[in-house]
Amino acid sequence: MKKSLEKIFIFMIVFFGAILAYNAYSSYAFKHNPLPQSYVDAIGNKQSEVLRKMQKNYGFVYKFPLIVTDKIKGNLYGVTTYENGQIKIYLNKNVMQESFKYMVDEVIPHEYAHALLMQKGYLNETKKGHSARWENVCINLGGKECRQYVNHEEIINGKLPF
Ligand SMILES: [Zn+2]
Repeated sequence: MKKSLEKIFIFMIVFFGAILAYNAYSSYAFKHNPLPQSYVDAIGNKQSEVLRKMQKNYGFVYKFPLIVTDKIKGNLYGVTTYENGQIKIYLNKNVMQESFKYMVDEVIPHEYAHALLMQKGYLNETKKGHSARWENVCINLGGKECRQYVNHEEIINGKLPF
């Protein structure tokens, strides 16, 4: 009896140790390698979907650079920047692996709505950009969780702080 408990205990240590090691390896590999092709494809597909909705709901298409970077500090999912008339959307690679579905489904339409309002000259929206106008655009671009009370500092006038 005692021996079999011991065996179970050792098995558990090895088993959970292996899971921990695998997770550590997986996040190390993700961090130090270029974005996997499946991620690139999913982001590209979502961008095409957003652009189709833009065409359908507004009758025009503005395609903004959608850049995946590991230079964003903290837990922000995405940032939209406006510099000298140039609008860019950045997605945070550091939080992408554990939140990829959310980033594709929600963050891309969210940031695209900021970018589109910037493009149309609405540069000083209230609530850090999360105005009723923004919410409406976000929904029209396919976002499901477009909420005015979002309080992220993720709109930057000028250069990114990195
Ligand atoms: Zn926002």
